[in-house]
Amino acid sequence: MENRLICRAEECVNNMGGFCTARVINMIGVLARESEDVKCSTFGERTITEALKNATNLNLGGAFAQAFNTEKVEIAPEVLCSAEKCMYNHKKKCIAEDVFVNENALTSVGSPYCETFKENK
Ligand code: SF4
Ligand code: SF4
Repeated sequence: MENRLICRAEECVNNMGGFCTARVINMIGVLARESEDVKCSTFGERTITEALKNATNLNLGGAFAQAFNTEKVEIAPEVLCSAEKCMYNHKKKCIAEDVFVNENALTSVGSPYCETFKENK
């Protein structure tokens, strides 16, 4: 399953112009009942050390393909997620076509969360 993903956490080492260049991301929020409880644990602050550590999780080909093709989004990090109360969670994988990772710059810089979360009632 591929997810189109837009991310607002520009200070993350994997963020390139709002797209996530990681191959795989991990969202965590076992007990999550709302969006801000589902955090991206793949977030890494943009430092040289983090950039080197993340080199093996890069999907740069996809990033460039996506940048030049707005109709079909080629970059597609696999989204693993522990928020089992979300309706898009299937066996700890995200099946949402579009995932928006948001960040509240005023209160939680460095704490990106899944805006797409929707509780399974
Ligand atoms: S915060 Fe998460 S989704 Fe956003 S760019 Fe970083 S790793 Fe990707
Ligand atoms: S949409 Fe749901 S399953 Fe997908 S990453 Fe967000 S919280 Fe997890």
